[in-house]
Amino acid sequence: MALLPGFTLPVELCGDVVRSLDPISLIALSQTSRSWRALIQPTRRDFQQRLLALELTPEHGGIVPRFDLDIQASIPAYTSDAWEANKYACCGCMKLRTHMLFNNHAILRESYRKPTPDCVEATRMAVTEWEPLDPAARWVRIQERTAKMFEERARRVQAARQHRAAVAQNAANHPFVLVTVPDNGSEARLRQWSVGISRLKRRCIDCLRQRSRSAKEIVISRDIFIPAFQDQTYPDLIGRTSSHDSPKAWRAVAESTTIRHVNLYVIYCKSCQIWQLSGAFRTSMLRHGSHNVPLDGVDLVCNHCHLRIHNDVDLLAKELTDHAMSELAVHIGKIEYQLLFGWRLVRQGWYYQNHQDPPPPGEKEADGLPDYLAGLGFDKSGEARLDVGSDVPDARIPELRRRFDLYKEFLDGLAESDRAVLMSSWFGLWIEEYDLIEAMYLHLHQQHVWLKNNPRGVFDYVFKRDPHWIHGPKRPYPLLREDQEL
Ligand SMILES: [Zn+2]
Ligand SMILES: [Zn+2]
Repeated sequence: MALLPGFTLPVELCGDVVRSLDPISLIALSQTSRSWRALIQPTRRDFQQRLLALELTPEHGGIVPRFDLDIQASIPAYTSDAWEANKYACCGCMKLRTHMLFNNHAILRESYRKPTPDCVEATRMAVTEWEPLDPAARWVRIQERTAKMFEERARRVQAARQHRAAVAQNAANHPFVLVTVPDNGSEARLRQWSVGISRLKRRCIDCLRQRSRSAKEIVISRDIFIPAFQDQTYPDLIGRTSSHDSPKAWRAVAESTTIRHVNLYVIYCKSCQIWQLSGAFRTSMLRHGSHNVPLDGVDLVCNHCHLRIHNDVDLLAKELTDHAMSELAVHIGKIEYQLLFGWRLVRQGWYYQNHQDPPPPGEKEADGLPDYLAGLGFDKSGEARLDVGSDVPDARIPELRRRFDLYKEFLDGLAESDRAVLMSSWFGLWIEEYDLIEAMYLHLHQQHVWLKNNPRGVFDYVFKRDPHWIHGPKRPYPLLREDQEL
């Protein structure tokens, strides 16, 4: 048997060893000695395969998220710590990069996702495509194998289509009765053959920007759920509220459905040439009259560059604090609405039960009002009032709590059937979540007091903590003149 220079084993045997490696070990072995390098002759394709295999390892790529097709959501959620450390391979710049440097298409579309272990693509990643041929002949073999794979996938697409057509036909044939066509597994098999097969074409937003002048410098990223209002614009400014601590969003009553689902934007700063989350451009956006959503066609610079160019620390600190306080005021207004929501109904219920009439407008009160209602202020439209002019809701919150506890006692004394009727509406949710709503209201007021007493609080948060930085370790403190004080 023939021996290659530097080897003590026959070349065929060496070839067999190399063929059984995974793409990561293939490159590692090719870098151990000249002889192995001469035998393997790694191509760009081999390096791409190595990168795509690395993104599936927990230590280099992080998680392989699953997607729940029924609720169209990632598991775990985009806001989880696991996603924060999640990285994807860019086969343009040949790097593993944070997921924030990829648009939704590049990592969420089925054929661009990381494949889960049950997918064909994950199985392919277990062993290298390398064969003991010269690079040109290997390339031909790779093309043939890829063509076969896509043919096989096309067969599965066809099978899934036929099943979908049968389901649609069945629904048309039985419009009034639910007669289902059994799931023949064609959709699941198609998914196994689809997930991750186009990852080679994946490019990060930086590569896209460099490749095309028309590529966007404001990129819409993941759609995330924000559990608490105040975490939307200044996350962790004073302390994050977890979804367990937050009362439910009353979308049907007082909010739009978009209020807690927001898109993240990633923006390219032309000054420092770094991509960052849109929050890092807050100062620039505020000067252009936009609060939270970046305007297309406006050249934005990041906070750090803005400060370096304008050097207006005091003005900036004031603008940021004013903005944070105005955002907070909106949030406090919404929670206050939830806090007071039930009292109008409690009052109406009492009047209808005792006078068979609606309650009188404004301050007027009937005799014999129970303790929990007597003296509670209502405006002309019948809504309970709360003095929110005060920074510290010291007097009204305990007083409301006293009345709420009294009313709960009254509720507990009702017959089970009467109570069930009351609790089946939004009113029931108000009763159930009162503790959470009250705690959130107090929390928001603490934030308000903190902002008022810390005129540099938001400025320091923006520049020292750099909460919108997406590239791993935070940057050093802002690039100020050495003699400048903060
Ligand atoms: Zn790239
Ligand atoms: Zn910048």
